[in-house]
Amino acid sequence: MAKADASKLDWNNLGFEYMDLPYRYTAHWKDGAWQDGGLTENSTLPLNEAAVVLHYGQGAFEGMKAYRTPDNKIQLFRPDRNAARLKNSAERLLMPVFPEDKFVDAVKQVVKANADFVPPYGTGGTLYIRPLLIGSGATIGVHAAPEYTFTVFAMPVGSYFKGGMTPVNFTTSQYDRAAHKGTGQSKVGGNYAASLLPGENAHKDGFADCVYLDPVNHKKIEEVGSANFFGITKDNVFATPKSPSILPSITKYSLLWLAEHRLGLGTEEGDVYIDQLDRFKEAGACGTAAVISPIGGLEHNGNLHVFYSETEVGPVTKKLYDELTGIQFGTVEAPEGWVQVVE
Ligand SMILES: *Cc1c(COP(=O)(O)O)cnc(C)c1O
Repeated sequence: MAKADASKLDWNNLGFEYMDLPYRYTAHWKDGAWQDGGLTENSTLPLNEAAVVLHYGQGAFEGMKAYRTPDNKIQLFRPDRNAARLKNSAERLLMPVFPEDKFVDAVKQVVKANADFVPPYGTGGTLYIRPLLIGSGATIGVHAAPEYTFTVFAMPVGSYFKGGMTPVNFTTSQYDRAAHKGTGQSKVGGNYAASLLPGENAHKDGFADCVYLDPVNHKKIEEVGSANFFGITKDNVFATPKSPSILPSITKYSLLWLAEHRLGLGTEEGDVYIDQLDRFKEAGACGTAAVISPIGGLEHNGNLHVFYSETEVGPVTKKLYDELTGIQFGTVEAPEGWVQVVE
C-alpha cells in the first residue's frame, strides 16, 4: 500500500478511511516485560498463524484524536482517560497493561512524527489515533498469549458532518451487543465482530446504525452502535443510560460534566426505557468518531419516534457540541487537565 502524501490531501474533503502514514509506534512484551518501544515506518505487523488475537480475539483498542488549534498548535483531548480505559480492557482480557504514562508519551510521539497530517484548523478535520494491544504470541490452546504487541497508528479524518450537523435516524436491534457480565465495558474487537451483522441490517433498512437494548429484557436503551446515547428531558436534564455492558465513553462523561458545569442542566445516569421516549425533547449519540450525532428519530417495533426534528439539530445538543468541540480545538477554555498540547 502506498504511503500517504500530506501535500496531496484535500483537507476539506477527508473521509474516515485508513491511510498509511510515515510513522507509528510499536512495543513488544516478552518474557514478562515490555521491551523498548519506538517509532517505525513499517505499517505491517509480523504475526504467527497461531497468534492468540487471530483465533480467540485477545485484543483491545482505543480511539482518540489530535486537534489543530487556531494558533497552529496540536492538542490531545483527555489522553489519560484512553490510557486508563486500555488498562481496564487489558486486565479483562488477561493482557499485560501498557503503562499509562508511556501510552500518552507514545501517542504524542506518533502525533509529532506525523504532524504534517494533522488537518489545518477550520477544516473540521482531525488526526484520528488508533492505539491497539494484541496477544501476538502463538499458542493453540485457549490461554493468554505468551507475547504481546502494542501499536499506535494514526490517519487524518474529515469532519463527521459535511455542511453542518444533521440529525440521523436509528432503529433498535433484536440482537445484543454484549452481555451484562461479558465484555461490554471493554473496548475489545469481539464486541465489534458481533455488531457487524446488526449494523448491516440497520443500514439496509435505511438507518444510520442500530440502538442496542439491554440484554436481559430488551426494555432499556444501552448504546448506539459505537457511540453512547443521551437524551435531554423536557425539564432540562442530560440523561444517559447506566448499565454494566455499556462502553464508558469519554465523550459522554465529558458531556455529563459540561452539561452540569457549563450549561446548568441537571444530569442523570440511569434507566432509559424504550417505551418512555416522550420524556425527551432532544437526543444524540456521542463518541470520539461521531462527536455528537443528533438523533432525529428512533424506530422501535415499526414506529418511528421523532425527538426534536428529523432535519434540524436541537438547541441544547448544538450548545453541547459547540462547547465540546470548542475545548477540543482550543477556542473554549478547557476544564483543568482536559487538554494536553503536543507541540
Ligand atoms: C469507543 C466507543 C464509544 C465511544 O467512546 P469515546 O471514548 O467517547 O470515544 C462508545 N461505544 C463503544 C461501543 C465504543 O467502542
